[in-house]
Amino acid sequence: MSDYNWCHGPECHEQQTQSRIRGSGRDKVLRTIKIKVNPNYHNIHNYFCNTRCLYDYLNKHAQAIANIAPRTKALETPIKVEKEKYESYRYDWNSDDNGATKRVPYMATRTHIKSVKTISTL
Ligand SMILES: [Zn+2]
Repeated sequence: MSDYNWCHGPECHEQQTQSRIRGSGRDKVLRTIKIKVNPNYHNIHNYFCNTRCLYDYLNKHAQAIANIAPRTKALETPIKVEKEKYESYRYDWNSDDNGATKRVPYMATRTHIKSVKTISTL
């Protein structure tokens, strides 16, 4: 395996940055960025020099990428939802006769989503 990858961004070699300039004299080019691969940390940044190149690639090849692992139905994660009532405050910005804003109590609701452990039958 090579220690370097060329950035896969389809327009990487067209971005006008000093880091892409190669060549000498009048024969200069903008060249695709060469990315040093970290063998201990395999991730998407081994293939793209920046997020623009990543998204250019994803947009250009979105259909083919989706076809690698098609999602034909929605997935679901079992959960438990717990509602908690608690006292909170809102502020009445219409100041009172003394020029102060009023802090008005009210009962608010907080939603907790909790994981449910399931035993896989697969
Ligand atoms: Zn790039």
